[in-house]
Amino acid sequence: MQLSQRPAVYALPSYSLTGDLLGFLRCGLQYRYTRIGKLPSTRPVQAWFGQFIHGVLEESYRRFDESRKRGAMNLPPWSEETIAGICELIKKRLAAQQLFPWGADLEELGYARAKVAVNELGPQLFPLIHRAEVRLTGARALPLAQIPPEYRFREADRYEMMGVIDVVTNVQLYDPDLWGNLLVKELLTDFKARSLKPPGEFEVIIDYKGMRRPSQKPIDPSKPSFWDIYGWQAQTYAHLRQAQEDSLPVMAGVIIYLNELLPTKGDLRRLREEIANGETDVVPEPGSETEQLLREWKDRKGEEPPILPFEFRLKRGLRVLPVAEATIAHALQEFDSAVARIEICRGKELQQGRVLSTWEKNAEDESTCAACDARTFCPSYTAETEPKLPGVRT
Ligand code: SF4
Repeated sequence: MQLSQRPAVYALPSYSLTGDLLGFLRCGLQYRYTRIGKLPSTRPVQAWFGQFIHGVLEESYRRFDESRKRGAMNLPPWSEETIAGICELIKKRLAAQQLFPWGADLEELGYARAKVAVNELGPQLFPLIHRAEVRLTGARALPLAQIPPEYRFREADRYEMMGVIDVVTNVQLYDPDLWGNLLVKELLTDFKARSLKPPGEFEVIIDYKGMRRPSQKPIDPSKPSFWDIYGWQAQTYAHLRQAQEDSLPVMAGVIIYLNELLPTKGDLRRLREEIANGETDVVPEPGSETEQLLREWKDRKGEEPPILPFEFRLKRGLRVLPVAEATIAHALQEFDSAVARIEICRGKELQQGRVLSTWEKNAEDESTCAACDARTFCPSYTAETEPKLPGVRT
């Protein structure tokens, strides 16, 4: 009798949506050094800022949820001391992971933004939250057709896609407690503008981004912008969430650009420019208080910028992405292509034994390169920024 042989054990390659796919799309070479090579960044400024606000919102929601379960609902706004206590706790947690604010100004801005996020966004957002930090996984076929045979190096024919949704909300349209909720109002206005009819009870998945609302003007029109990439991320989250047993119909993904809740002078300057050049999709109503405040702001040294009305800041902070089969299919296709590109770079590196020449680079986003430790020797960065001598025509 012939006994069958067990197939060799192999591990599925695992790709996380934020750490791997978005990291690679930002810049392949930087991703190779920091994520695959695990080289710690010498300037993890952005990492501290993003994680700090995420942490404060998460801890604040946890405290609100505990009070709700006790039957004594304690919704923000909260006192200065309470918010400062939460901020200190998160700062210590991040310090334990070797993440520091690198400057008193940055820390001060982080605390101020966290306070606005909890006290102004919190009362609208917290009552809608069903679950926070929802882990998602799914398996997909490795896009082998996009990987030339000479660069294929794995036995696996599938890959694992992973992600963590910041917040899943459960919206019950007929719940009287939600009438007057500004977030629900914004969602319904958006659905109406797109002629979408939501069911009585549905889910919206929310992802926080520690950045301002991106401009609509792409840096390079031939390449996907961060606007597109974050949109695909939300669609993919919706796809993975829909496959979980306890989910309701997912109507939309929402990105909250947290910097819009408390814009700095620089942010307001850019906003004015974008409005003048028609490069942003959320602008103040003509003749509104916001328009007047922005128009009359003199932008003088030492003067505080105007505080725009919360409704406008919330509108700028929210990006609603309705979920449909076609949009999900497109997002998945794009992420499959990103996985294929990573696999090709890895295959090339294995074959050629070199890093610099085998990984894709992307020097278009100034802030990504500014925080990158490879910029002193990166050929793409030096090609873009080094002064050049005038050429000699022969
Ligand atoms: S300097 Fe810019 S292009 Fe070069 S590796 Fe860093 S992020 Fe990428």
